[in-house]
Amino acid sequence: MDTIVKSYLQKFGVSEATQTFLSKVQKMFIGGAWVESSNGETSDVIEPSTEGLITRIPMGTTDDLDRAVQAARVQFDGGAWRQAKPAERERMMQRLADLIEKNAAELAEIESIDMGKSVAFAKDVDIQGTVDTLRYFAGWATKLHGRTVEPSLPGNYLAYTRKEAVGVVGAIVPWNFPLQTMAWKLGAALATGCTVVVKPAELTSLSALRFAELVQEAGIPDGVINIVTGRGSVVGAAMATHPGIDKLTFTGSTPVGQTVGRAALDDMKRLTLELGGKSPVIVCADADIPAAAQAVANGVFFNSGQVCDAGTRAYIHSSVYDEFLRELIAYTRTLKMAPGLDPDCFIGPLVSALQKQRVTEYIETGKAEGAELVYGGQPVDGPGFFVEPTIFANCRNDMRIVQEEIFGPVLVTAPFDDEEEALALANDSPFGLAAALYSNDLGKVHSLIPRLKAGSVYVNAHGTLDPSMPFGGYKQSGFGKDLGAEQLDYLLETKAVWITLP
Ligand code: NAD
Repeated sequence: MDTIVKSYLQKFGVSEATQTFLSKVQKMFIGGAWVESSNGETSDVIEPSTEGLITRIPMGTTDDLDRAVQAARVQFDGGAWRQAKPAERERMMQRLADLIEKNAAELAEIESIDMGKSVAFAKDVDIQGTVDTLRYFAGWATKLHGRTVEPSLPGNYLAYTRKEAVGVVGAIVPWNFPLQTMAWKLGAALATGCTVVVKPAELTSLSALRFAELVQEAGIPDGVINIVTGRGSVVGAAMATHPGIDKLTFTGSTPVGQTVGRAALDDMKRLTLELGGKSPVIVCADADIPAAAQAVANGVFFNSGQVCDAGTRAYIHSSVYDEFLRELIAYTRTLKMAPGLDPDCFIGPLVSALQKQRVTEYIETGKAEGAELVYGGQPVDGPGFFVEPTIFANCRNDMRIVQEEIFGPVLVTAPFDDEEEALALANDSPFGLAAALYSNDLGKVHSLIPRLKAGSVYVNAHGTLDPSMPFGGYKQSGFGKDLGAEQLDYLLETKAVWITLP
């Protein structure tokens, strides 16, 4: 670990437990064993607030993936996991949730140090969300069953359906909510009796490795959950075509999702794709403008804008546009930009130098396209991959900054004159992950909701999430759902059984 990172951890009083974990040689978790990459390769893990080296993680190979799939296969086909009754699976999941809750402070520190995010948000959102997701799906383990049916065809039949776990699940996760996104994939998979091979993002694998220690402690049989760290282009790509994986669930960018999806369909893998977004926000003239401005700022700048359903395009009624911008800017000024471990951090650094460069280039593109920069957008000196919260006004929908996912703290705004125009602007996007409406006119709200092409619609808030509600996009934001009872459908095959009776 670099001295600059050590001083950073000391400055913010990071726990002994976290320091001990970070000073270990990091290994992958395959079939219950802690192993190095089969070719010995590792990759540096950089702390985003200081740009210092934290540790190294193994860069897995396709041989490592084969071993992980084999371990998951053995458990699925006939191991202790296969034989465990649903109530026993539920108990194991609850034990795991208890352990995550017990170690929440440490996991939040690890997530913050690895990804750069606010440690307070990591605890309240990422870690709490992980616990809640595991508990919610643990409850489902005992409630999954088919139905009996009374057919109308002539004759005498017993006809019923069985719900059967799909098999070995390959889960590829991104870096913005590393532990929580993994839990979204794991919760439903474990509840249904599937086994899992996870590939975390190469930038943020540490919380998954600490999680794996807790999986062992919870007594979940070896091979049920395997963590293979490594490159997307190696391990991830091999997962998409691996014959031992029955279902692939991918969260990440739309271009990679398209590649992965095409490859996975070669052998008809079951497929869930949770992809990018450019979620619109409509602020109507009757909205509570100060409250809407705060909610919009929180909805775009949370996690420094590295949120798939961030409300990144705000369309505001022209009669309240200036007032909204004033409120928005005044509130944004109060959001503290600081290292992730600072307890008051709202805007942390971006995850990597590359992400900072991408976002900075988009800000320059916006200026060049003629968007009016009304807040932020100035370079921030290092160390740390910080980018100021940035707001553009009077944007046009044909601008790249309006059409493309930036994945940083950048909000584009434009006025509209009537709701039909707002709706057309909102739907004019290749993405359809989420949308938000700010209005107190119930009739208007209910007439707009069905016409918004988005997988989630938030009214007078942004990004409200709960394990009981499904999450997933329309259009190029993907298909399939994570969370909610709906997710279970994507992990269960339905078998129709016909028994001819005398
Ligand atoms: P990414 O697509 O670059 O990577 C996602 C994962 O895919 C990583 O684990 C990566 O290693 C892996 N990967 C990369 N290339 C691969 C390949 N050729 N084959 C297989 N796997 C490969 O995305 P990212 O930069 O890590 O995350 C940001 C993106 O994720 C944004 O577009 C964001 O909108 C999206 N996202 C979507 C959701 C959602 O629920 N819809 C949630 C979070 C993030």
